[in-house]
Amino acid sequence: MRPYLREKTSFGFADVPEATCYEAGYLVTKNAGWRSIRPVIDAQRCVGCYQCYLYCPDGVIRIEDGKAVVDLDFCKGCGICQKTCRIGAIEMEAERK
Ligand code: SF4
Ligand code: SF4
Repeated sequence: MRPYLREKTSFGFADVPEATCYEAGYLVTKNAGWRSIRPVIDAQRCVGCYQCYLYCPDGVIRIEDGKAVVDLDFCKGCGICQKTCRIGAIEMEAERK
């Protein structure tokens, strides 16, 4: 078995799970409170390109009505989504206590 080789088959977004964390059954406990920054989506700028959705390591971003939506119950605040959004529709803001 060669686990690092993937089958080269094409697929569309309809074949990709909506929120990967739930499909995999991973994130079952909510954010424990250690997140220091959180992503905020600017819906006016977001074009629903799926970049952040594809790169979020926790699979907590979904696209609703053409706009990205983050499930903050499970987001860990890593900021990868902000780095991948080329049009700057995501800002990381400090958590409010
Ligand atoms: S990467 Fe940016 S523009 Fe694309 S869906 Fe995410 S927030 Fe929207
Ligand atoms: S900050 Fe990290 S975990 Fe939270 S939505 Fe962005 S990429 Fe996902």
